[in-house]
Amino acid sequence: MSTLRLTTDRNKTGSTLVLTQGDITRQTTDAIVNAANSSLMGGGGVDGAIHRAGGPVILEECKKVRKTQYPQGLPAGQAVATAAGRLPAKHVIHTVGPIWHGGLRGEPEQLISAYRECLRVADELGLHSIAFPAISTGVYRYPVERATAIAVDTTVQQLKTTKHVREVTFVVFDSHSFQVYAREFERLSSSDPDCGLEKLTTQ
Ligand code: ADP
Repeated sequence: MSTLRLTTDRNKTGSTLVLTQGDITRQTTDAIVNAANSSLMGGGGVDGAIHRAGGPVILEECKKVRKTQYPQGLPAGQAVATAAGRLPAKHVIHTVGPIWHGGLRGEPEQLISAYRECLRVADELGLHSIAFPAISTGVYRYPVERATAIAVDTTVQQLKTTKHVREVTFVVFDSHSFQVYAREFERLSSSDPDCGLEKLTTQ
């Protein structure tokens, strides 16, 4: 397995995108993103893994967020930060991706907003690094190719505006998603002379 590192905007802000395969709960970035559901009360997939690994502090803070900020639940495309409990990351940024209904019900806009809002919240907290799972591509059934193009393009655009966030890691669970993200990284590096692509490790 390998890790890819893509440096974007080499001559200006100098941000880095990293692609790796594995469990996002083990990431040591300043924040990890949770692909939550709007209840913020936990669930399956990456949501369940984050609450299990981080412990009860995360759910306690999610309950406070529901009470104070989002009594109706966190809408798709929004993001909110909590503590990370026992996780190596310092913060969990919870976002809600769209459920795929064929693509004509605002799903792309909501997915773009989810990535943007997570990066905005991380930047507001003054964080340097953040790790994303492949939001919406599990039980929410967003097609992986389309979701990946949005994840990478939105992140590259948003990194042009962030003051603090400089490193974004995409953590994929399966090898098919890894290949799809790797193709996106290659597409960017071949179309933009300001990008540089490196293969870091091969096991
Ligand atoms: P959604 O409801 O947004 O589709 P899921 O949790 O069902 O969220 O899936 C989102 C993606 O996260 C899927 O590609 C899934 O394979 C992946 N995933 C599940 N568990 C983990 C984990 N522990 N670390 C990283 N990615 C994970």
